[in-house]
Amino acid sequence: MTEKASGADAAGLQTRAEHRDGGWVLNGEKWFITGANGAAFAIVVAVTDPAAPPQQGMTLFMVETDNPGWQMIREVPVMGTHSPGGHCEIRLENCRVAEDAVLGKIGEGFALAQVRLGPARLAHAMRWIGMAQRALDLAAVRANTRETFGAPLAERQAVQWMLADSAIDLYACRLMVLHAAWLIETGQRYRQEVSMVKVEVAEALGRIVDRAIQIHGALGYSTDTPLERFYRDARAARIYDGPSEVHRMVIARNVLKAAQQSGSTKSATGGLA
Ligand SMILES: Cc1cc2nc3c(=O)[nH]c(=O)nc-3n(C[C@H](O)[C@H](O)[C@H](O)COP(=O)(O)OP(=O)(O)OC[C@H]3O[C@@H](n4cnc5c(N)ncnc54)[C@H](O)[C@@H]3O)c2cc1C
Repeated sequence: MTEKASGADAAGLQTRAEHRDGGWVLNGEKWFITGANGAAFAIVVAVTDPAAPPQQGMTLFMVETDNPGWQMIREVPVMGTHSPGGHCEIRLENCRVAEDAVLGKIGEGFALAQVRLGPARLAHAMRWIGMAQRALDLAAVRANTRETFGAPLAERQAVQWMLADSAIDLYACRLMVLHAAWLIETGQRYRQEVSMVKVEVAEALGRIVDRAIQIHGALGYSTDTPLERFYRDARAARIYDGPSEVHRMVIARNVLKAAQQSGSTKSATGGLA
C-alpha cells in the first residue's frame, strides 16, 4: 500500500490501474513493502477511479512478481531487523495483469485493506508482547544476579519499580489483546479497540525494553543480549500499520462521537462493564 508520498494518509495514493484491452495496467511506486524480495506475488493497492473519494476509488490487485512490469528497486536499509524479504522499494511500470487479478470488487480496495489491518494489528501486538516478556525475563534475571554496592540490584527499590511497571504494562497489554481478539472472534465491532491495542502495546514494548536495557547497564547496550535489537525493532512499532498519532486521532474521534450520541464515552473505551 505505502508510497513515499502516501503513508499515514492513504488518500494520497498515486499508483494507478487503468482498464485496457480486457485487463489492467498498473503504474506507480511503492516502498516499505515488507517481505517483497523473494515473494512470489504481492497484493497491490491502486487507484482505479481518481474522481471517486479514496474509500471508493481504490482496488486490490494480485501481481505476480515475475511480471516484467514489477521491478524490485532495492531493499531499503533500516534501523531494525532486516526481516526476510526486507522492506522493499518497488516500481510498477506498465505492469499488465489479467481481469481476474482483481481481489474482491473494483472500488473495494480501501475497505478490504482496512479489514486485513484489524486482525493484522492484533497479530503485531501478540508478537510485541512476546518480545516484551523476554525483555522483562532478562531484566529480572539480571536484577537477581548482578550485585552493586554490596547487594543485588533486585534489592533496590528503583530497580523493583522498573520491573513492577513492566509487569503492569504487560498485564494490561495481554488483557487488551484478549478482549480485542474476543470481539473479532465473536463478530462484534472491534476497530476502536484494535486501535487502542495498537497504540498501547507498541508504546509499552518501547518502555519495557528501555527499562530492561537500563537494568543491564552497558551489557544492555551491547549486542551480547537481544535487548538492543528489541530496542531498534520496537521503534518501528509506533510507525507501521498506522502511527500512534493517527490511531489517537481516530480513537479521540470515536470518544467525542460517543459522548455526542449518548452523553457517555463508555462504548468508545472498550464497552466493558
Ligand atoms: C518496518 C516497517 C515495515 C512496513 N511494512 C509495510 C508493508 O509491508 N506494507 C505497506 O504498505 N507499508 C509498510 N510500512 C509503511 C507504514 O505503514 C508507513 O510508514 C506508515 O503508514 C506511516 O506512513 P509514512 O511513513 O509515510 O509517514 P507519514 O505519513 O509521512 O507520517 C509521518 C509522521 O507524521 C505524523 N502524522 C501523520 N499524520 C498525522 C496526523 N493526522 N496527526 C498527527 N500526526 C500525524 C506521525 O507521527 C507519523 O509518524 C512499513 C513501515 C515500517 C517502518
